[in-house]
Amino acid sequence: MTARVLDGRALASQLRGDLAERVSRLAATREGGAPRLAILRNGNDASAAMYAAGLERIAGDIGLETTLVEESTGALIEWVAEANRDPGVAGIVVAYPLADPLLAQRLIELIDPDKDVDGATPTNAGRLLRGEPAFVPATALSVVALIEAHGVTVAGRRAVIVGRSAVVGQPVASLLLARDATVVICHRATPDLAAETRRAEILVAAAGVPGVVQPEMVGPGAIVIDCGINATPTGVVGDVDPAVAEVAAAMTPVPGGVGPVTPLMVLRQTIESAERIAASRP
Ligand code: NDP
Repeated sequence: MTARVLDGRALASQLRGDLAERVSRLAATREGGAPRLAILRNGNDASAAMYAAGLERIAGDIGLETTLVEESTGALIEWVAEANRDPGVAGIVVAYPLADPLLAQRLIELIDPDKDVDGATPTNAGRLLRGEPAFVPATALSVVALIEAHGVTVAGRRAVIVGRSAVVGQPVASLLLARDATVVICHRATPDLAAETRRAEILVAAAGVPGVVQPEMVGPGAIVIDCGINATPTGVVGDVDPAVAEVAAAMTPVPGGVGPVTPLMVLRQTIESAERIAASRP
């Protein structure tokens, strides 16, 4: 058996069209034109620069304006306070890592949870955990978007997640639980990872370890979502060995699975925020 490919690039392209329509509706009805996403940067890290540039490019494709704020610690803090008050700014995201490591925590505490379109604030994490409406970390939303776009039933199924980080593993668990899956979360102290993963009907790998999921760890017919983005001398690989495609019913490729959908989830939440701001104005 060769797994059906859960194609993130195709989903991203469809989402771009849907989101572009929502932005043009907003721009037509809103004073001041298209809503804006603010991207905060501090320092010269190459991956932060790539993340920011990718978001700017895709936002531009769908007609959403972006403001890239590259400032020192003090200026960024002042800027966030201003952006929280500005109804023209619908969303605020931080491009990690920052040069000043303490700044990340301070910024997260400052961002208005209602503009926190990458679900980074503790308020949104708490809302998600309690099953309340929340902005959610984009990678976790991307996992669910891929599952749902391919018509995979979640309710009543056993989902196993490898990884428990606040940005991927935990929010994926909350989202699947909210959709009535039975969820198991694995981590480094899980005594027999393979025994857990073999029982998964939906398996999500978010460990950051190349090939941590091998074919013998996957049950026949499982749906496998690979969040891993691991740079190796031969290129970017996921957490799931490609040979798993011989066992699984469906699987995301790396690259081309979760990755291309993730920035669109930030933008989708920015548009949701803008729509809410527009609806709340007299
Ligand atoms: P973290 O390093 O923060 O978390 C990794 C998690 O995996 C931890 O909970 C860790 O367990 C667990 N883990 C690590 N090794 C093992 C193992 N051998 N067995 C079981 N569990 C293990 O990573 P992130 O959550 O930030 O990222 C995970 C992956 O997703 C990375 O490859 C990252 O690049 C990718 N990513 C992809 C994005 C996308 O858009 N596609 C966006 C963000 C991340 P413990 O808690 O016990 O240490």
